[in-house]
Amino acid sequence: MKISDILKQDKVTLSFEVFPPKTSSSYESVARATQEIAALHPDFMSVTYGAGGGTSEHTVQIAADLHAQYGVNVLTHLTCVSSTRQHVSAMLEKFKQHGIENVLALRGDIPAGGAPENEYHYAAELVRDIKSQGDFCVGGACYPEGHVEAANKTEDILHLKEKVDAGCEFLTTQMFFDNNILYNFLYRIREKGITVPVIAGIMPVTNVKQIKRITSMSGTYLPERFKAIVDRFGENPEAMKQAGVIYATEQIIDLIANGVNHIHVYSMNKPEVAAGIQASLSEILK
Ligand code: FAD
Repeated sequence: MKISDILKQDKVTLSFEVFPPKTSSSYESVARATQEIAALHPDFMSVTYGAGGGTSEHTVQIAADLHAQYGVNVLTHLTCVSSTRQHVSAMLEKFKQHGIENVLALRGDIPAGGAPENEYHYAAELVRDIKSQGDFCVGGACYPEGHVEAANKTEDILHLKEKVDAGCEFLTTQMFFDNNILYNFLYRIREKGITVPVIAGIMPVTNVKQIKRITSMSGTYLPERFKAIVDRFGENPEAMKQAGVIYATEQIIDLIANGVNHIHVYSMNKPEVAAGIQASLSEILK
């Protein structure tokens, strides 16, 4: 089913993201984790794509299995900045062969030393190519705090509008830990005429290493309430995990209460985290 059709239904949706293994030796354990998450029957699952393309075969295989064996609606990520048009076309053919209808079109991070190929510069170019090569539902990424490379939020939103005009049917946000940042972003993009559904991306932070990586890579704002949790429970992995899941769940409840109906959880291949959040929302999701 196309994600645009899922989002049109008048209901709250909960979806989960998984990532492919980095090496073939870890394929089985990752596949098992993704299957356990699929057993929760989310509205859809997304499978990320290694920017260098090295794990692209794993992305396709995991997505294809989730779709064929578990009947899950899948969203396959695809990046372009380190890729060629020929490779993109080959990937789209594979998606078609496996009945994958949904693609999240991404530029990908520019590798240190510059992109090895010079055929794509921005995700909007990939969106146009995907739309011209099949009956795909295409989504894109958006950044409530602004993309790290953008000079300012206003410019970032103008480029986002170009991406939507190129054919994006929905947007998924980068993680954020303060819902007011999302509410402000939604106000600003709607004002600029971006009307497609926005899926809120929520990251349950379950260990201290993860927080350090997040803040160093994307400079995401951490509210004092969140920092206090890390200070108090950071050295106790089980307590940190429990607190991280509860924090994410509270964020989700506040979003739904305020009319944000589509929630995507960065479940990081952790079935217990996905299941914990879903169980806490059982009545809310009905
Ligand atoms: P774009 O939309 O192309 O934007 C990138 C930058 O270029 C922005 O600063 C934008 O303002 C600017 N820009 C856009 N158009 C123009 C223009 N015409 N002129 C000048 N500037 C312009 N990475 C992966 O490698 N694999 C994944 O699976 C993956 N999944 C992701 C999922 C989500 C929901 C999110 C939020 C991010 C994901 N990423 C993934 C990370 C993403 O690839 C990086 O954040 C990347 O740096 C930007 O990708 P984009 O598609 O948002 O780029």
